[in-house]
Amino acid sequence: MFIDAEVSVTQIKNYSFCPVIPWIEATYNVHEPESNAMKEGKKRVPSEIAQKIGLERPYIEEVMIVDKELGVKGKVDLISGKKRLKVLEVKSFKRSAETSTHFRDQLFVYSLLVQRQMGRVVVSYLYLGGDIISYDIGKYEIERALKLINDTKRVVLSEEPPKVRPDPRKCSYCWYRHMCPYHW
Ligand code: SF4
Repeated sequence: MFIDAEVSVTQIKNYSFCPVIPWIEATYNVHEPESNAMKEGKKRVPSEIAQKIGLERPYIEEVMIVDKELGVKGKVDLISGKKRLKVLEVKSFKRSAETSTHFRDQLFVYSLLVQRQMGRVVVSYLYLGGDIISYDIGKYEIERALKLINDTKRVVLSEEPPKVRPDPRKCSYCWYRHMCPYHW
């Protein structure tokens, strides 16, 4: 059962990083301005990366997907193949897999959206400034994506901030810190 609301994949990625962020964005109508890292990321050409890692053609880049039934929209960096599809998400800077779980979750949601609208997604790839992590897309990944969607919707619809135990490592560089109910 889908909650009746619409969220973006960026909101879901932010939820995965810290559930308070989409609540702050929805409550105060603020959004982190584009950082240099984000601008750098846009200079990467997904098809060049796809070619480098040997993904089969055809490639479709910058695919905007709006899933009205799910209430989710987002732009996929690249979809590879014809029948058994692969999804690629490109991030500019190197990070460890442990500090990139929100990007991994973002990729799972994109994989779900592509699977619902275009066909079976078998593997998805996260490019992190030169490193590639691949994820088989199966029941666990799809169920995680669906749960994240509903959890994010719950948070943005709520008047109260979600209950979290702030992670000092994340909070130390969080752009939303000065608006965060856990740091007043
Ligand atoms: S400051 Fe910490 S608890 Fe608050 S939104 Fe940022 S990461 Fe979350």
